[in-house]
Amino acid sequence: MKMFSFLITAVLTFIFSTQLYSQKVYETRDEIPAEYKWNLNDIYKNWDEWEAGLQKLQKITDEIVGYQGKLKESPDNLLKVEKLIDDWKILAYKVYTFALLTRDSDTRNQEMNAKLQQAQIMFSKFNTTTSWINPEMLQIPWETMKKWLEDSAFKPYRFGIEDLYRQQAHVLDESKETLLSYFARFNQAPRDIYTNLSTADVDFPTITLSNGDKIQVTNGNYSRVLATNYNQEDRKNTFEAHYGVYKANENTYAAIYNAVCQKDWSEAQARNYKSCLEAQLDGNNIPVAVYENLVNTVKANTEPLKKYNILRKKILGLKEYHSYDGSIPLTDFNKTYPYEEAKKWVLASVKPLGKDYQSKMENALKGGWIDVFENKGKTSGAYSAGVYGVHPYMLMNYNETLDNVFTLGHELGHTMHTLLSDENQPFATSDYTIFVAEVASTFNEDLLLDYLLTQTKDPKERINLLQQAIRGITGTFYFQTLLADFELQVHKLVEEGKPVTAEVLNKIMDDLFTTYYGDTYSKDEILDRVWARIPHIYRTPFYVFQYATCFASSAKLHNDVTTGSEADREAARERYLNLLKSGGSDYPMEELKKAGVDLTKPETVNAVINQLDKLVTQLDEEINKLDKQ
Ligand SMILES: [Zn+2]
Repeated sequence: MKMFSFLITAVLTFIFSTQLYSQKVYETRDEIPAEYKWNLNDIYKNWDEWEAGLQKLQKITDEIVGYQGKLKESPDNLLKVEKLIDDWKILAYKVYTFALLTRDSDTRNQEMNAKLQQAQIMFSKFNTTTSWINPEMLQIPWETMKKWLEDSAFKPYRFGIEDLYRQQAHVLDESKETLLSYFARFNQAPRDIYTNLSTADVDFPTITLSNGDKIQVTNGNYSRVLATNYNQEDRKNTFEAHYGVYKANENTYAAIYNAVCQKDWSEAQARNYKSCLEAQLDGNNIPVAVYENLVNTVKANTEPLKKYNILRKKILGLKEYHSYDGSIPLTDFNKTYPYEEAKKWVLASVKPLGKDYQSKMENALKGGWIDVFENKGKTSGAYSAGVYGVHPYMLMNYNETLDNVFTLGHELGHTMHTLLSDENQPFATSDYTIFVAEVASTFNEDLLLDYLLTQTKDPKERINLLQQAIRGITGTFYFQTLLADFELQVHKLVEEGKPVTAEVLNKIMDDLFTTYYGDTYSKDEILDRVWARIPHIYRTPFYVFQYATCFASSAKLHNDVTTGSEADREAARERYLNLLKSGGSDYPMEELKKAGVDLTKPETVNAVINQLDKLVTQLDEEINKLDKQ
């Protein structure tokens, strides 16, 4: 993930790590050699420098406020404010990241938590004291602004300002905006209720497994049993007990989800959008056709998914194959992957991206950029965080599993994207959207898989590698698209004024399961409540489809860069590197189009479907080799 804490939860929900051994956790950071820790001196030498940075932020804020009421006087004033905002943000990144990384390396440190809060308070103060800027800028007529923007000094700010005017089309007059603002807090209520019902107030039952162990079927235990327990009866009981909680509260969950959709529809209508979907996609200027193309194309191409289920059923030797059988590993393969080896592989895998890319990655791996190992108190998971003008930093909790080798490749994809964007863009357009962010990381995972498959002849290891890649596609690409389809169907019902009840929601889910999986899963009626246990659709409607479009984009790009004539591959590589270098200088759809990815076309989505088909065929071949051994 790239500082999207949200994405990692999604990944953990659907993709399970099957190797649960872990390597040692260091007691203190002093025991860890310097080359495996990040060197924060690249940002600040000491806390005095940090303190001085924090104070300078206040000075810049004061300077910006000095321009209040003067923006329309001259383009010079506007330009000065834009530059001051850049200065402020560049500095803020340094101040914030320095405190954040120090805190994350030992979250028990109260002093660091306080410093981080100091930085956060500074941010919210900045937001409040500069909230006049956009409305004041928008008072300048577009015709005037267009002339001002012709001056090349405005080049870095052109895209941001044009986008501000574009979005203005759905901003209402002042009295209406004020009226709407009274409902802002109230509109958060459905998701707050969902969070409380599904976390604080949820009470999962305790069951007894076949070995006599008693477990409470929490999210964590549920995932663990499904991914590690070879007794089908145990998986069944865990699944049914876990889902039973959602079934018992299904009418309440349905009422909450209905409220979420009603809120979306009232907001969309208030702002003159034709549909909830159009309103949600407008922020990034994404055409509705992208979303519709995704759900329609995936729905029409579920053969590889079915083929995979049939293969798993055969390999696992199950009489009946259920959804709760989908995570159990196909082989008992447990190998450790030392960090120094993983580094070499990841580096070798990006060869198709050229010498320059490779040598930049080598530099990122040299030491000081990545905090590799786990120590007591360190924050969990993995991320990449950019610091403009310095370099990106990465957090890992490397534990020698195959999963972690891919996490290293994934995060390095983000790091390289940030690096190339920062080198080629002025600060104002260096930040890219999630729409392209996860393309860079998934692309590198694809390359890593290619490379590792060339390195090993051991069928068991190859099966493990293929499983890793397939889980990504079935869990992220297919399942998130299924959810995206569900969200769209329910919102449409609300737009048409039709009732939304638990029964209606279960029916939609049931039909989707039938379309996606056919009869390759034995029916479990209780599974239809899956909509009740996915927080994303309540918290951020129409968001999960981006996971799938990122997969599709990177599959298409990966295909372009690695297949065809040398000249074609060369050209595709240049287009891809230009995508990374373009940062946030245009709308994500435009950036992707320039790289050769048109998400309104079925062929783009088909790239990942074909990829799955190929992987399942390969898996079948490896399994056959194993049988002959
Ligand atoms: Zn990521």
